[in-house]
Amino acid sequence: MTNIYLDNNATTRVAPEVMEAMLPFLTDRYGNPSSIHRFGGLVRRHIDTAREQVAALLGAKPQEITFTSCGSESDNTAIAGFARPRRTTARLITSTVEHPAVLNTCRHLAEEGASVVEVGVDGEGLLKRDEFDALSIDANTLVSLMWANNETGVLFDIDELSARVKERGGFFHTDAVQIVGKAPVNLRKTPVDFLALSGHKLHAPKGVGALFVRDKVKLPPLLYGGHQESGMRAGTENVAFIVALGAACELAATHMADESARVRALRDRLEAALLSSCPGAKLNGDAQKRLPNTTNVSFEFIEGEGILLMLDERGIAASSGSACTTGSLEPSHVMRAMGIPYTMAHSSCRFSLSRYTTEQEVDAVIEAMPPIVKRLRQLSPFVK
Ligand code: PLP
Repeated sequence: MTNIYLDNNATTRVAPEVMEAMLPFLTDRYGNPSSIHRFGGLVRRHIDTAREQVAALLGAKPQEITFTSCGSESDNTAIAGFARPRRTTARLITSTVEHPAVLNTCRHLAEEGASVVEVGVDGEGLLKRDEFDALSIDANTLVSLMWANNETGVLFDIDELSARVKERGGFFHTDAVQIVGKAPVNLRKTPVDFLALSGHKLHAPKGVGALFVRDKVKLPPLLYGGHQESGMRAGTENVAFIVALGAACELAATHMADESARVRALRDRLEAALLSSCPGAKLNGDAQKRLPNTTNVSFEFIEGEGILLMLDERGIAASSGSACTTGSLEPSHVMRAMGIPYTMAHSSCRFSLSRYTTEQEVDAVIEAMPPIVKRLRQLSPFVK
């Protein structure tokens, strides 16, 4: 049976090198890093190394990195940590295409009294700059914008947007869960205050993430308890997964330049073939300002879910809409925010590649798709 995994924006396989790095911390090296004896000291040193590895990938300082349980926790810590102490004076500005980890956190904080603005995007998924530029920003404002969209791969210009917000005295958080490990991030030149990342999107296991908090920027923790993570996040550290995240970041840093060029070429080949061989196919999202690994294509008049099921029968995994919204047949909030017509939004498919994707796998998808689209069109009630 073929096994082709093109759903890497949902999650990635754990890299063998990452597995190898973490395993000893599930067997012999089981000390608690807070213990003063040698069992503790040994694992503490490895947490320090992981922190340096994560910081190096981001162009940050090790003390600016806090380990968390996932990307969602990192987003929550930044946004709620900013808003709660300010109560009703807190102002949150975000976008309509954010992941629920940001959107639902902001909406919940609105119920607690914060004011929340969701800025729209255009048909290509790019932020509506006139709407954004017209907003007032002050020291009680946190702008939270994603660096890369999980469904379309579209990139917001976080360098420029964060610089504008800092000039105007506001604070800036970016959900960088989809970009970290796939394209360069350099926080020495991008003046964000907070950044969220997640291990399982870059070949570390599920259940570990990190939050960058710029030096001297104050943020209360979400979890209170012991003094782990310099008081930023209570709870005995998940040592094995933290070590894994460090190893994954180092691997990403080592291979990024070569891998992203190779993955981009494969993605472009897949996309060009789908657009030319499947009638009524259309790309969703800006073709240029995009992650190298993602393509999101609509196949008018047929259901994305139908395509996924037929691909699955052939051992090919892709996604329609975001992994977190599948299960519902409504078009995703991202497609709706982009103003994509219903019949197109409903037929969208996301293919997301990784460093493990091969040319043969891409060719197999290129071969599989036209007959699937043809068959589903024949069954479609919308096509005469
Ligand atoms: N933000 C984005 C853009 C995502 O794609 C995801 C996961 O799909 C998250 C946040 C949440 O990350 P986690 O699954 O680690 O909580």
